[in-house]
Amino acid sequence: MNLQNLKLRAYEIENKLCKEFEEVNDYIFKNPELGGQEYKSSKYIVDKMNEYGFKTTFPYCNIDTAFRAELGDEEGPTIAFISEYDALPGYGENNDEPGHACGHNWIAASTLGACVVLSKLKKYFKGKIILIGTPAEETIGYKYNLVKSGAFDDIDAAFQMHIESCNNVNCKSLAMDSLEFEFEGLAAHAASHPHKGVNALDAVNLMFAGINALRQHVKSDVRIHGIITNGGQAANIVPEKSICQFYIRASERSYLEEVTQKVINCAKGAELMTGAKLSYRNFENPFDNIINISSFQSIMKSNLQDIGVIDFYEGNNPPTGSTDIGNVSQVCPTMYTELSLNINPMVYVHEKEFLKFANSNESYELLHKAIKSMATTALELYCDKNLLSQIKEEHLMLVGYK
Ligand SMILES: [Zn+2]
Ligand SMILES: [Zn+2]
Repeated sequence: MNLQNLKLRAYEIENKLCKEFEEVNDYIFKNPELGGQEYKSSKYIVDKMNEYGFKTTFPYCNIDTAFRAELGDEEGPTIAFISEYDALPGYGENNDEPGHACGHNWIAASTLGACVVLSKLKKYFKGKIILIGTPAEETIGYKYNLVKSGAFDDIDAAFQMHIESCNNVNCKSLAMDSLEFEFEGLAAHAASHPHKGVNALDAVNLMFAGINALRQHVKSDVRIHGIITNGGQAANIVPEKSICQFYIRASERSYLEEVTQKVINCAKGAELMTGAKLSYRNFENPFDNIINISSFQSIMKSNLQDIGVIDFYEGNNPPTGSTDIGNVSQVCPTMYTELSLNINPMVYVHEKEFLKFANSNESYELLHKAIKSMATTALELYCDKNLLSQIKEEHLMLVGYK
């Protein structure tokens, strides 16, 4: 069967199975679980993948709610779809329950759908279809651990889509480090024996002052934002311990490394000035920026256009947030796409209002487009070796140092 006919078959299969994929969207939405605790959701997806004939590994890479499902042979390309299924805290009816306000239920359904559609066409191409379950995107970012464990070493290309406010195949994200600084001083009576104390809160304050001075001398894409999580116990005691946390971000990992070192130097300076002993650690995993591959983007765009997605964001806004799909994109060519719901006025992810749309007819309509376009783009890679080598070459050039 030629590529064009294969794509038409993929549309037909998706149309036939559409209710099954909507059910996945619905189940994950109705069982929201926080990052790292996605026990029901991960088991549900793994059970489904077993039913669809995939071989599953669960848990995966020593992470309870991570999994890998695969089907196919060693001969052709190995293509992965990156699933997410963690919810956000503070939503739900009583405000204290988790809710899928970022639409990760839709990511779970769309990646599962693309794998299943491809599996039904497997006899027409060589290669492996992989679904990788990656927990806690919103917090810890387990893709970092999965990358370190080698989960993506055999992957030739990876796909993921996210609901956003516009259609975009050229999404950017900031590399980010999450650092916690702890200063250990010495308690003393703040009025009667202040000279005996070592003030840990002063160290934190001086560190903030140093960072505020640093802001003038970093590139405009840098974001440094922090909070004090421990500032002492009582105003009449010289604070013995003080802790602050910072997110430090930049457009590229290489520049971020420089900035992060300067922030650490601010902490070291504060240690020297006050005598409060410094220790620091990463309190969440470091995220990398997304590597964008133009040859990959143009295939995805044309497959989206084929099914009626025509209005793409073409601007050049600077990146804003950070995501651990960036870490995956550093080790294998990754096509991360954002698609917009057809609603007016627009509602944004992480807003409470978005919960009305994460499992709606509008999200189902978009789900079918996501499945179709990811499946047809993957079909091109399975069927055209040159295309995949071109993408891999471009990726290698962009990550260069690896
Ligand atoms: Zn989110
Ligand atoms: Zn998200």
